[in-house]
Amino acid sequence: MKVLLLLVSLAVGLCFGNQVRSKRQALSDALRWPNNTMNYYYEDGFPLEMQAMFRDAFNYLKSHTCLNFVNNKDAENAVYIRNRVSCWSALGMRSGEHQELSLDYPCAHFGVALHETMHALGIAHGQARTDRDKYLIVEAEDHNDYINEDTTLSVPFDYGSVMLYWRTERRFPKDPEYNYTMGSLRVGFYDMILLNEYYGCNCEKHPVKLDCKNGGYQNPANCDECTCTDGFKGQTCDELDGHILSASTEWRPLYYGGPYSKTLEKSMAPKNVFFHVTVSTDYLQEVLSKKTLFQAPEGSTIEVRTTRLEGFFCHFTCDWNGVELKYLTDRRMTSPLTCCDDDNLWNKTRSSTNNPFVIVKYGEDKGPRFQFEYRYLPGNLTSS
Ligand SMILES: [Zn+2]
Repeated sequence: MKVLLLLVSLAVGLCFGNQVRSKRQALSDALRWPNNTMNYYYEDGFPLEMQAMFRDAFNYLKSHTCLNFVNNKDAENAVYIRNRVSCWSALGMRSGEHQELSLDYPCAHFGVALHETMHALGIAHGQARTDRDKYLIVEAEDHNDYINEDTTLSVPFDYGSVMLYWRTERRFPKDPEYNYTMGSLRVGFYDMILLNEYYGCNCEKHPVKLDCKNGGYQNPANCDECTCTDGFKGQTCDELDGHILSASTEWRPLYYGGPYSKTLEKSMAPKNVFFHVTVSTDYLQEVLSKKTLFQAPEGSTIEVRTTRLEGFFCHFTCDWNGVELKYLTDRRMTSPLTCCDDDNLWNKTRSSTNNPFVIVKYGEDKGPRFQFEYRYLPGNLTSS
């Protein structure tokens, strides 16, 4: 009986829910899909709304990597997607098998569909990284967190990874700033970099080298453009996507109430709304061009603080929605997410020398509303 249980746990990768858990986290152990193509098919009667989640997860992965997803139940290797108990997947391609992947109602979400697909592609959990002890406190008996090989490639640990579990009493961040960031269902920018490294997706052979700005990199899905970090767009990520605000040395407030439309969303993927706080010598020109043409005065710092959070789903993780004040210098890295206004984290003043300072409102856009204030400190002044 013990042997059988072990076999089952080896075969099944991580899950959302409390079903079978895995000890197998190694990337190098898992098989990659040949020709960068994952075959899949759905069980008869698989709910259409769940199919839509996979459609959007596959589209997301296709547009950020060199991977393809083909609906083919006759392939030698394929992922058989079913509605069973809980959400889980095998880790990596299981040669000669039609391996199962389950999505279930209590955990059905675009981010979970993408998380389980990442497992099927060979990507393990964030809490299974060899460097996780620098960032997390985990109890050894929490066997979901077992490490046995290097799983990090060159990608740094990110508390906002879609592959990292939520906080519990036995698994929590060393830095409490990230208490609500763990368990996010939003795809981290580094998640796609990890997948691209694992599958060798890159634009090295492309004749044109793009100079991608603001943390972007040449997109392996389309080497004629860059993949941009949150809030940026355009071929080389030098255009601002979202609302542009001009900071002064006095605090200014911005209240965001969201749209009032009743339209259906086209995608199951969570929506992001971006705000840019800029310091510019020619603000009007910057807004008109939507490009970051001008430099902030030397050494200036932009400060932002959230002052109201309303209508966000607040519990132990900001999985469904949240606000991210992207103050970390590395624009690829997730800064702490907030969705609850009942602790001392949510309204902290965040400072950054990044210009513009990007603010992300993540998740369902019709309910949650928030307000923040912003200013800049010229020269080498810092906040007291
Ligand atoms: Zn998992």
